[in-house]
Amino acid sequence: MGTHDQYKVAVLSLGGTIASTPTAGKDGVIPNLTATDLVASVPELASVGSIYAEAFLAKPSTELTFSDIASVCKRARELVEAENFDGIVVTQGTDSMEETSFVADLLWLGEAPLVFTGAMRNPSLAGPDGPGNLLAAVLTASSRRARNQGVLVVMNDEIHAARNVKKTNTSSPAAFSSAPTGPIGFVTEKYVSMKAKVDRWPGLAIPESWNPDVEVVTSKIDGSARLLEILNQELPAGVVLAGFGGGHVVTRDVPLIESLAKRIPVLLASRTGSGRVLETTYGFPGSEIDLLGRGVIHAGDLHPLKVRILLTVMVSLGWPRDRIASQIAAFGAVASGDVR
Ligand code: ASP
Repeated sequence: MGTHDQYKVAVLSLGGTIASTPTAGKDGVIPNLTATDLVASVPELASVGSIYAEAFLAKPSTELTFSDIASVCKRARELVEAENFDGIVVTQGTDSMEETSFVADLLWLGEAPLVFTGAMRNPSLAGPDGPGNLLAAVLTASSRRARNQGVLVVMNDEIHAARNVKKTNTSSPAAFSSAPTGPIGFVTEKYVSMKAKVDRWPGLAIPESWNPDVEVVTSKIDGSARLLEILNQELPAGVVLAGFGGGHVVTRDVPLIESLAKRIPVLLASRTGSGRVLETTYGFPGSEIDLLGRGVIHAGDLHPLKVRILLTVMVSLGWPRDRIASQIAAFGAVASGDVR
């Protein structure tokens, strides 16, 4: 690591609100600023050390792909291993950051901080939050206290673990939250304080090609069975059930889910987005006990969108259903019976 005031941090820009400005003749803002522009707009960065800026992509974050994020991870690894960077900051749109940062978290094996940040208010609005977020992200990326914590998301002076963080508001600068526990650290002035340690999971290899054909099916009252019927015919690579509460679905859907679970990995998460899916409490048809007994795989306490990311990496690596079922415990989904 660099000595104090000589840290080397790279900023890779991917687009998003933080880089979006008005363009003549067009309504609304579009991502057109580069990493160099972003770094130049925050003179305080110079006091952290040497900041290298690289324009990587310029997209709204809804257009980012698994393959984009895999390329970011490869580039970040190169910068850390071959060029001795202390940490890497990725700037992108906030809309998909809870997904992209988690893709990176699964693929990032290094100890160096890989930190995602963005902005809720673009530079043309009053009180843009991008500059402050970039400074806090760079401070975090250069901090020894943030090392070996996997991928972090820094927004609004809060440091979140990628596996927990969620965008929870359309426009507030305080949109990012890690329910039910909260941020794992904070940035105050130039001080980075970590309040919790991330228990790192095994890293996954970067797949040679991606198969993101994994659907999320959300349970809802009085809904139709259409989606599950189509999925039974078309058979995607995997399905994530965003069940009610503790992990429940309507009784009518049970045979359709069982038929899917016999042929592809079907993972059970909760649409509440917080708390571990139950295993041993309810016995009615469509309950967690019923579904798990029919071959559905318990997905721990991850949000359904993050379960989809994890399952996409696993199926893209070519893992069969049984391997997914046995390995998922290593990703926070403690195996049945392993209760302590
Ligand atoms: N609203 C988005 C953002 O905060 C746009 C995007 O995700 O690219 O950056």
